[in-house]
Amino acid sequence: MKDATEATRVANRAALAQVPLADRQSFEDARRGLIEALGDKLITRGDGRLVWTLKGYEFLEREDAPDSVHPGLWRHARVNMANGLYRVTDRVYQIRGFDVSNMTIIEGDSGLIVIDPLISTEVAEAAMELYLKHRPHKPVVAVIYSHSHIDHFGGVRGVVSGEDVAAGKVTIWAPAGFMAAAVGENVIAGNAMLRRALFQFGAMLPRGERGQVDTGLGKSVSLGTTTLIPPTNLIKKPVETHRIDGIEIIFELTPDAEAPAELIMYYPDFWVLNMTEITTQNFHNLLPMRGALVRDSLAWSKYIGGALHRYGGSSEVLIAQHNWPVWSGARVRGFLRKQRDAYKFVHDQTVRLMNYGYVGAEIAEMIKLPASLNQEWSAHSFYGNLKHNVRAIYQRYLGHYDGNPTNLDALPPVEAAKKSVEYMGGAEAVLKKAREDFSRGEYRWVAQVASQLVFADPANRDARELAADALEQLGYQVESATARNAYLQGAFELRNGVPNLPGGSGAAPDIVRSLPLDMYFDFMAVRLNGDKAAGKTIVLNWRFIDTKEDYVLNLENSALTFVADMQADNADATLTLTRATLDEISLQKTTYSAALQSGQIAVAGSIEKIVELLEMIDTFPIRFPVVEPRPAAISSTAR
Ligand SMILES: [Zn+2]
Repeated sequence: MKDATEATRVANRAALAQVPLADRQSFEDARRGLIEALGDKLITRGDGRLVWTLKGYEFLEREDAPDSVHPGLWRHARVNMANGLYRVTDRVYQIRGFDVSNMTIIEGDSGLIVIDPLISTEVAEAAMELYLKHRPHKPVVAVIYSHSHIDHFGGVRGVVSGEDVAAGKVTIWAPAGFMAAAVGENVIAGNAMLRRALFQFGAMLPRGERGQVDTGLGKSVSLGTTTLIPPTNLIKKPVETHRIDGIEIIFELTPDAEAPAELIMYYPDFWVLNMTEITTQNFHNLLPMRGALVRDSLAWSKYIGGALHRYGGSSEVLIAQHNWPVWSGARVRGFLRKQRDAYKFVHDQTVRLMNYGYVGAEIAEMIKLPASLNQEWSAHSFYGNLKHNVRAIYQRYLGHYDGNPTNLDALPPVEAAKKSVEYMGGAEAVLKKAREDFSRGEYRWVAQVASQLVFADPANRDARELAADALEQLGYQVESATARNAYLQGAFELRNGVPNLPGGSGAAPDIVRSLPLDMYFDFMAVRLNGDKAAGKTIVLNWRFIDTKEDYVLNLENSALTFVADMQADNADATLTLTRATLDEISLQKTTYSAALQSGQIAVAGSIEKIVELLEMIDTFPIRFPVVEPRPAAISSTAR
């Protein structure tokens, strides 16, 4: 990691004049109601491995931004350091800074209502422990999942047991569609998302003023045990009011904005509005850099506007499941107006320019927030990235293709790079010019052209170094934490190659067990190696004796399809097994071949056909190149 260059120093100083640095309200809001902080304590797993700590972020104590961090991001990263147990108002508490997300606790008449038990059980337990140290001991009687992202449910077994839920002692509430979204979002494209998430969150980057400083929504993500207990009560109507342990809660569904299944809540007894993740102290992501289906900015804005009209007049504090609260009715309303209009402005202006024919890359250059929004910290892109979001809106309506037929069948990265470098007079000539541009601070172009050199020849050490240097300076200059992480991770990989990713325990058992069979077979089908399947025809009946589910799997034309609730007369074989056996295979506790041998899977018909199909199913590599050429051909591994 290198120093900020003179050009970066100048850029970040210029940014200083553009941001509302005098507005220090957030620091006050974030600290208000603190009871006890987590400080630099370590939260570990049973085996001693680190799950969470704020230790290492001491460098953020400094008031003024260093040259290597955008001044807006520096301030945001400092406010996000507020951590511990907070009293929001009578009977409403929050634990912040124990994970990327917040846990909210409402004190009911007989017990506790926990909203969003963080990502992992270890941090959720630690959060409860801190709460109980200061408040009367009462059992948890209800859990509410605000939405289907894992930072809002993964730690649930740290606050309640499955037995208590099954026995009816605890109810679990969630928005309609929660389970399918929660277990399904990271299945089909999960491997690519996992790899790309490393760029978004910068989890492997060192913390420091030349490394990871924040993620926008919180400091980082906890690395403990993730769990899931299915909800017992679903909110299905657009607005539903329930009394849970004596507390009136108005639930309002907000689907397909920040998450496929999400809700916000208003607590009339306390005049508290919980906007969950529909508002944060950020202009959020319309398309996270890990990859996702594009989110709907227009719907998002309308949900915020609706909350403003319905609850704005009777809210004394606004809390969310990330970042810090907004206090006093007038400021709550002002905040909601700014959030509503940030999503609306960027949406409408992108679409307006789109209809003039401009393409995403051009519109991203053209859109600047109006001064009234730019002077509001919460409209800044710390988690999202304005330019990336503009392109996401374009993609949502028009797709990735910009309409220019030149790009209908453009050469792929390696071939295009080789041709470009050759036309430009060879690698040495390109490097010479690119170094001159680097010295002038033209990092965007240098990153682009040096990347072409890397794709033309990944062994070109000078090109890799120059590309890395350019990405690093771009990271130092950008206000978005996730964009900074992406640039710095890119620089790291150009210098050091694809990192050895932590082995990872794979998917959480709770999530594997909850995966609907339709999704299981959809996922099996996307792992089918089309070349190996060429010319093959296989029909397999599957009978799950414990769940009483039947499936027919059909392979022809190199495509694997299935029909549920059916068995084929002409099947090559019938497999009879339990869902539990299938889950053990998914969790890598056993394999198909072991289960076939042991009789855990009973077979009638041709076992050879089963083996033949299984040998066509790929296992995805956890490491693949992102900032340099992918292998020309993939060798797949069957299991
Ligand atoms: Zn979240």
